[in-house]
Amino acid sequence: MSAYRRILSVLVCTFLGWAVALAAHKAILAAQTAPAYVDPEIQAALHEISPGEAQSDIEKLVSFETRATISAQDADSIRAGRGIGAAREWIRGELERYSRECTGCLEVRTDDFTQPASERVPAPVRITNVYAVLKGTNAEDAKRMVLVTGHYDSRNSDALDGKGFAPGANDDASGTTVSLECARVLSKLKFPATIVFLTVAGEEQGLYGSKHFAELAKSQGWDLEAVLNNDIVGGDKSPGQDAKVIRVFSESIPDSASEAEIRMIRTLGGESDSPSRELARYISQTAHIYGLAVSPVLEFRRDRYLRGGDHTSFNQQGYAAVRLTEFRENFNRQHQNVRTENGIEYGDLPKFVDFDYVANVARINAATLAALASAPGPPENVHLETKGLDNDSTLRWSAPADGRAASYEVLWRATAAPDWEHSEQVNTGTTATLPVSKDNVIFAVQAVDEAGHRSLPIVPSPQR
Ligand SMILES: [Zn+2]
Repeated sequence: MSAYRRILSVLVCTFLGWAVALAAHKAILAAQTAPAYVDPEIQAALHEISPGEAQSDIEKLVSFETRATISAQDADSIRAGRGIGAAREWIRGELERYSRECTGCLEVRTDDFTQPASERVPAPVRITNVYAVLKGTNAEDAKRMVLVTGHYDSRNSDALDGKGFAPGANDDASGTTVSLECARVLSKLKFPATIVFLTVAGEEQGLYGSKHFAELAKSQGWDLEAVLNNDIVGGDKSPGQDAKVIRVFSESIPDSASEAEIRMIRTLGGESDSPSRELARYISQTAHIYGLAVSPVLEFRRDRYLRGGDHTSFNQQGYAAVRLTEFRENFNRQHQNVRTENGIEYGDLPKFVDFDYVANVARINAATLAALASAPGPPENVHLETKGLDNDSTLRWSAPADGRAASYEVLWRATAAPDWEHSEQVNTGTTATLPVSKDNVIFAVQAVDEAGHRSLPIVPSPQR
């Protein structure tokens, strides 16, 4: 072989080597999330959620005239169907009815306490959270819980008015209805993990109900994987509303993070990967998988600008919790006495609520709860190897304790990308090495069961 040919041959081989390496690299970078699994039972349950039910629930809640936390809850008022006591008893009755229809599958409970006087509580008041538990069927998975909540209390222009009309159709009979609809349709199914359907009071006085409940969950060691707070999900029908989307707010740095944890988040560039934010991404992915009519819009902040809600109570206890809220709020119809001034209608009435929208939001919630409650637990001890400097990345993890993980998905995205861009399926073992630099991407691993249900993704911590 002439020198010329030898050089040519070396060049060709080198080029081919590069081309193969480049192609492999591109194939991995281009590997989109594997085909998503649509569970036919979950799909059928979503079809059962109905705008008609949403409408009758919201109108019933409005019929109590006021659900102010400081409104009446004595026996006579309950009998007369007026005040927060009557609303509470009606919600309890609905949950008990759903339970009878599934031969007692729900445990209907209340969490009662006396809230001492405070800025918006003129005298000590009894606050009652009403909830139902659909216990998981698998002993190990039943310890894992997912929760949906809305607040059933309401208010008008004056937070201290316990008597005047306070319909609260959108804020937050709509969110209460989401919890009830999820309970009604999902109680007909069985899930390995536990689902909690919650409605709280005291929100308008200072998030008191959710605070008490989140503390109760923490003190009893509940393994709450996900909390979905629905507040103002009525899809107010004013111009400018976008009934095709719902905002999902998630905190960046966890409220409960210690100083050491915050330092680690800074070091790793993990500001956009709190468990709450992974939950928000999971909700978005689930809505997409089930082809739902309303799409989640990820909002990378804890709540609306300078405002708060019940999910924060759960964040404070270290739980992943997000807030779902309609795209555009009409502030003439929140926390306002019902009246007309200069031709403008004020007040939170059912006629402004889009019941189709409420049903669609309930479907997003039900799909997420059902998908998570069907999935195996998330992978444990998820680590990214950092022994030496390397442009490949090796991840290691251990199987979830329920033994139901049949495979895993490694997800990744560019550091500046808002949502997962790529995935690689791992069918055997609990380790993966990818030709992707950990410097340029964020990784996570999720467990997948035999059927295809996926757990929440877990972001690795570094391990030397
Ligand atoms: Zn609210």
